[in-house]
Amino acid sequence: MKKRKVGIGIFVIVLIITAVRVKSMDSHRISGRILAENIAGPGMMRLVEQSMQAQAQKTSVTEIAVKEWKHPQAALTFDDGPDIRYTPLLLDGLKERNVRASFFLLGEKVEQYPELVERMQKEGHLVGNHTYHHVQLNKLNETKAREEILKTNNLIYETTGVYPLYLRPPFGAWKKNLELCVEMLPVFWTIDTLDWKVQNTEKIVHTVQEQIEDGAIILMHDEYDTSVEAALQVADDLKAQGYELVTVDQLILP
Ligand SMILES: [Zn+2]
Repeated sequence: MKKRKVGIGIFVIVLIITAVRVKSMDSHRISGRILAENIAGPGMMRLVEQSMQAQAQKTSVTEIAVKEWKHPQAALTFDDGPDIRYTPLLLDGLKERNVRASFFLLGEKVEQYPELVERMQKEGHLVGNHTYHHVQLNKLNETKAREEILKTNNLIYETTGVYPLYLRPPFGAWKKNLELCVEMLPVFWTIDTLDWKVQNTEKIVHTVQEQIEDGAIILMHDEYDTSVEAALQVADDLKAQGYELVTVDQLILP
């Protein structure tokens, strides 16, 4: 009984090899099939072919899935910091989760808490500019607007050794063509959590859940306990949903 099973197994393997050769050598396809049919008979041949087709389909579907499926991405961004009380808590939580975020800092606070800025840089976060005094750039003349930006850039550079390339304009107000004279990219957002206004962890998390999509840039402020709590919860939720949390440069640059 065992011998018979082994015999059938070898026979099927030979058939499969023959059929594979038939498939891979188109010019010999017809003669190969006739050969296989002569050995096995048409019924057996059909069964082997069917199982090979099923296998081929399975393989190609898996291959396509591996090739085309990419994690959706989102960026957590924090404005107005660093904050002596809440930024360290946020950095701890992000580190625990191995998540990188983007921080848009006020120059006056970089001057106050350089050690926090240094830590952000060391831990792989993106450090960006949010002007020196939180000014509305389109209400200033070009000289003043440049001053607000460049003074902050210089402070960040002195602290981290990296010159910032990204700037979040306070109030989302950008001065036309300013990017040309400061050579920076303005970064806006797609989800405004209004965390500073609601100061309610559940509501902030809910706003993100409702609006989340691939490429989302989430705006928050690391100045409130509710924002830090919500941000870490959002990080856990998004990871569970298959999202990759990235810094904004990864969403902006191709
Ligand atoms: Zn701001």
